[in-house]
Amino acid sequence: MAYDREKQVAVAAVLEAAKLCEQVRQDIPPAMEKGDKSPVTVADFGSQAIICKALLEAFPQDPVVGEEDATELKTPEMADNLAKVTTYVQGILPDISSDQVITWINHGNGSVGQRFWTLDPIDGTKGFLRQDQYAIALALIEEGEVKLGIMGCPAYPVAGQTPGMLFVAVRGEGAVMMPFATQTYTPIQVVKADDPVNLRFVESVESSHGDQERQNAIAQVVGITAPSVRMDSQAKYGAVAAGQAALYLRLPSPKYPDYRENIWDHAAGAIVVEEAGGKVTDMYGKPLDFASQPKMLDNRGVIVSNGLIHQTVLDALNPV
Ligand code: AMP
Ligand code: MG
Repeated sequence: MAYDREKQVAVAAVLEAAKLCEQVRQDIPPAMEKGDKSPVTVADFGSQAIICKALLEAFPQDPVVGEEDATELKTPEMADNLAKVTTYVQGILPDISSDQVITWINHGNGSVGQRFWTLDPIDGTKGFLRQDQYAIALALIEEGEVKLGIMGCPAYPVAGQTPGMLFVAVRGEGAVMMPFATQTYTPIQVVKADDPVNLRFVESVESSHGDQERQNAIAQVVGITAPSVRMDSQAKYGAVAAGQAALYLRLPSPKYPDYRENIWDHAAGAIVVEEAGGKVTDMYGKPLDFASQPKMLDNRGVIVSNGLIHQTVLDALNPV
C-alpha cells in the first residue's frame, strides 16, 4: 500500500496529540492571543510539538508547514506558558525539556516544496475553547497533490459511544473513519442519492469566517431546506465525507474580503472528502492550490460537496 509508513507514523502522532488536547480541554485552558489576535492555547503548541517530533524522527528530510511558531513562547513573559506546554508534552513523552519542545514546535516553520507536510495542531481553536468541535489536521503533499490526510476530531459525536473520531485518506485508496472508542476502521462514502435525511449543509460556527446569509441562500437554491449544521474546524469535511451532510459552504466573509485560506485549514479535510467520493473546489470551481505557498492566494472561498450537487452549487454562485 502506498504511504504506509507515513500513515502509520502520522496516525500515531495525531492520536497522541489528541490525548494531549483532551487533557488540556479537561483543565479548561485560558487562551493566549497571537499577534494577529487569533486565540492560541498551550494545547496548540503541545500538539504541534508532539506531531513535529514524530515527523522529524521518522522523516527528517520532510519540511513541516505548521500553523504555530515558538517565537512568542520563548519570550520571558511567556515563561509560565512554556512551562505548562512542557508539562503537558511530558504527559505524553516523559523526560523531555522545554528546549526540545521549542525545537519541535519550530520544526513546523518549514517551507512548501516538492514534498512536505502541513499541520494545524488545533484547527478550530475557538471551538476547542467553547468545548465544541476541533480537529488536529495533518496532510502530506507531494508533487502538488495531497497524498495523505488525517484528521483527529476528539469531540466528534459517535452513536452509542464516547465522542472522538479519526478520519484518514490515502490518495487512490479511499477514506476511512475510526471511532477513538472502538479503534476499528470503516470505509466512508459521501451521501450519494438525494437522501432527504442527509441533504443538509454544514458551515462554520463563526459567522466572520464565511458569509452565512449567502450560504443559506445558495443552499436553498440547490434544494436544501433544512437549517445549516454549524460546526467548528475541518470536522465539517468529516461530516461530508461520512455522508452526514451533502455540502459544506465557506464563502468569503464580506467583512474580510481580502482573507486568504491557509493550506493547513483544508488539505487534510479535502483529501478525506475526495477519497470518500466527494468534490472540493473554490467558489469558482478552481482546484484548491496546496502546493504554491502556505496561503491559497489564487482561491476564493471553499465548496465541499458529495459531488452530485457540486455543479449546481457552482452555477448558483456564478450565474452566466
Ligand atoms: P472554522 O472553524 O471552520 O470557522 O475555521 C477555523 C479557521 O478559520 C481558523 O483556523 C482560521 O485560520 C480561519 N479563519 C480566520 N479568519 C477567517 C476569515 N475571515 N475567513 C475564513 N476563515 C478564517
Ligand atoms: Mg485552523
